Amino acid sequence: MLGNEKELRPTNEAGMRIGIDLGGTKIEALAIDEQGEELIRHRVDTPRDDYKGTVDAMVGLVHLLEAKTGRTGSVGAGIPGSISEKTGLVKNANSTWLNGRPLDKDLSAALGREVRIANDANCLAVSEATDGAAAGKHVVFGVILGTGCGGGVAIDGRVHAGPNGTGGEWGHNPLPWPTDEENPGPLCYCGKRGCMEMWVSGTGLARDYQEITGQRRTAREVIAGFEAGETNAVRVVDRLEDRLARGFATIINSLDPDVFVLGGGLSLTQHLYESLPKRLPAYVFGGEADTPILQARFGDSSGVRGAAWLWPNTRQVPR
Ligand SMILES: [Zn+2]
Repeated sequence: MLGNEKELRPTNEAGMRIGIDLGGTKIEALAIDEQGEELIRHRVDTPRDDYKGTVDAMVGLVHLLEAKTGRTGSVGAGIPGSISEKTGLVKNANSTWLNGRPLDKDLSAALGREVRIANDANCLAVSEATDGAAAGKHVVFGVILGTGCGGGVAIDGRVHAGPNGTGGEWGHNPLPWPTDEENPGPLCYCGKRGCMEMWVSGTGLARDYQEITGQRRTAREVIAGFEAGETNAVRVVDRLEDRLARGFATIINSLDPDVFVLGGGLSLTQHLYESLPKRLPAYVFGGEADTPILQARFGDSSGVRGAAWLWPNTRQVPR
């Protein structure tokens, strides 16, 4: 079977899945078995600004994991962007050297099998919907609250990217119900003003703190200050929570997902899970909002696991 077989294998015949998380600084790959048990993982530095080097590194990781496990696997990759339905090329990647490149086709050709690619926030949603905090839920909205802010949708454990590839991209919706001082909001790298990402992200939290105090702090330091009861940190985290609640309310009003799952550095802030459910009803149409808001079970590994689960387990019985 192996060796001179040239056509792309569309199925997951081996039962092993390889997921690759292509980040701005690291590329992580992991192999899981059919039950989702981790077999092996490996990470390398991202060859920044080097497209061919990035493809070679991803291919090299697959070969390494297959050599070490002695098995072949299906391959999925999460990227900080998406593949345009129109052009077949990567768009919206903040790792800009990927933009305009046919990454899925180049990986598929190099590996001799179909490689699936999805946005990293969609991978979070798929991971958590498959065997994570939102296991078995019908519609899962995944949110990454890291340096920036991303979102993704999984329906029955599958990515819902939509015909424009922008399903879940709430980070570039404007902050809803802005106060006078929030209007028009900071300029976003996407060219618009007042995007959610500018407010509800590590970067946004640090900027807000600096605006109030004149002091530069990292988001992590602000959160530590909040947990210690420091007045200004409490004030900016309170604002962050209110903005998150407003943003989540518009997602409920448009999609009404069964659950929100949060990943990224800010998702470790336990106060969010007490505070957000209490704040939602004030903003959701009709005032009813019981949507669970959960922390990602697999934390930072959700992206790479979700990439692996882009090849779902078809033998799984519906829950
Ligand atoms: Zn934007």
